[in-house]
Amino acid sequence: MKYISTRGDKTERRFCEILLEGLAPDGGLYLPTAYPQIDDATLNQWRGLSYAELAYEILSRYIDDIPAADLKDITARTYNKQVYGFDEITPLKPLEPGLALEALSNGPTLAFKDMAMQLLGNLFEYELGRRGEQLNILGATSGDTGSAAEYAMRGKKGVRVFMLSPNGRMSPFQQAQMFSLQDPNIHNLAVEGVFDDCQDIVKAVSNDLDFKRKYKIGTVNSINWARLLAQVVYYFAGYFYATKSNAEKISFTVPSGNFGNVCAGHVARMMGLPIDQLVVATNENNVLDEFFRTGSYRVRGSAETYETSSPSMDISKASNFERFVFDLLGRDGARVKALFKDEIEQRGEFHLSADEFAKVTQYGFVSGTSTHANRLTTIKDTFERFGIMIDTHTADGLKVAREHVKTGVSMLVLETALPAKFADTIVEATGRQPERPSWIAGLDGLEARPKRFTVMPKLTQAIKDYVVQHCAD
Ligand SMILES: *Cc1c(COP(=O)(O)O)cnc(C)c1O
Repeated sequence: MKYISTRGDKTERRFCEILLEGLAPDGGLYLPTAYPQIDDATLNQWRGLSYAELAYEILSRYIDDIPAADLKDITARTYNKQVYGFDEITPLKPLEPGLALEALSNGPTLAFKDMAMQLLGNLFEYELGRRGEQLNILGATSGDTGSAAEYAMRGKKGVRVFMLSPNGRMSPFQQAQMFSLQDPNIHNLAVEGVFDDCQDIVKAVSNDLDFKRKYKIGTVNSINWARLLAQVVYYFAGYFYATKSNAEKISFTVPSGNFGNVCAGHVARMMGLPIDQLVVATNENNVLDEFFRTGSYRVRGSAETYETSSPSMDISKASNFERFVFDLLGRDGARVKALFKDEIEQRGEFHLSADEFAKVTQYGFVSGTSTHANRLTTIKDTFERFGIMIDTHTADGLKVAREHVKTGVSMLVLETALPAKFADTIVEATGRQPERPSWIAGLDGLEARPKRFTVMPKLTQAIKDYVVQHCAD
C-alpha cells in the first residue's frame, strides 16, 4: 500500500514515511492510492474478532512496512480493557429501537481522540526506536487534543511533548488533566494569551524550517493519516455490534469539527462496509452543514466563529475535508488544488458545479445543525427517558441523527466525549453533576493534585528557547 497527495503530486510513499509527517510537500493531504476492498467472506471472519484483532486486520491492509508480529503487538497493547474499561472497547448504549450510541470516549481523557492518539503514541515510539531518532511534538490546544496527545505520549521513549495552552482559559477539569501529569517528557506551557496566539506560535515555529529540522519538531494534528486510519476500526466494530448479518445496512451520525472522524467513516464505506448514510452533525459553526446542503464551502474568520457549549466542534475550516473532496471529484488532484489552494486560500470559498454536487448523495452524506438550546433539551430528554447522561457534542449528534433516521436502518450516534468533561452545561440541562468514569484511575480529586506547568509570554522566541533548553533532557 502506497500513499499520494490530494493535490496532484503522484510521488508514492509508504506508511512509515508519512507517519511522522503532516501535510504532503505540495500542501495536500495523504490518502492511499486505492481503498482495500473487504468482501462478504472477510466481513464474516471479522465479526468474531476482538477489537484489537479487528484493528490489526484493518491496519495491516494499509501498513506493509511494519512486520505483522510487531503490528499485532502494538494493536494488542493499544486496545484493551485496562485502557478502555470495557472488553468491547467501543460498546453500544441502546436508546429507542433502531437508535444507539457507540461509546468512543472511554479512554484516559474521556474523549474519542484517545482512540487514535493512543495508537499514534505506540506507533511513534516503535518507529522512532527503529530509526534511532527523537521527536519533539509541538502543539496548541484549547482542551481535548492536547490532553489526548499528552496521555498518549507520556513516558514514551524518543518523544517529548511541548503543549501550548491559553493560560487560565481551559476548563478546570481539562487543565487539571493535563497539568497533573508528572512525566518528564511532557511540558505544559501556559501562554499568556488566547488559543489563537498559541496556534500562531506553533505555526511560526513550524515555518522556521531550519529550526524545525535541527530540533526535530513534529505535530500530532488531525490531518495525520495514522489518526484517521485508527478511527476506521470503530466503524467496523460498531457495524458488527449493531447487526447480525452483512445484508443489513446501518447509518452513523458523527458530531463533526475538522471532519476527521466522519472522514474515517467515509473510508470504511469506500472499503465496502455496508453503511447507508453518514450524517454530519455540526453546532452553530455550520460550515459543513452548509456545504452538504448547498455545495458551497465557505470558511469563516475568527469573528464569525462562535464559542459554543460544544467547543471541540467550534471550527471555521475543516482540515480533513479536502480528503473527501478528492474522492468526490474522481481523485482529480489538479481540480482539488484549484479549489483549496487558489479559491480557499485567496477568496475563502468555493462552489461546486451542479454535476459535482450531485455526486455527494452517492457517498451517503447528509447533514444538520444543532444549537445550545437543542443540546440542553437533548441532554435532559436523554437523561429522563433512558437514564443516560450524554455530553454536549454527542447531544448535537443525537439531535441531528433523529432528523435522518429511516425505518429498517439502525442508526449509531458516535459518542465523542463523556459528560464529566463538560459539567457546567450538564448541570444547566439536568440540574445534576455528571459522574466520573470509575474505570479511569486518578479522576477523584483530580483538581487538587500538584500541577506541573510553566507560564510563558506570548512570544515565539521564548517558546523556541524553552524547547532548545529542554529537548536534550
Ligand atoms: C475533536 C472532537 C470532535 C470533532 O471531531 P472531528 O474529527 O474534528 O470532526 C467532536 N467531539 C469531540 C468531543 C471532540 O473532541
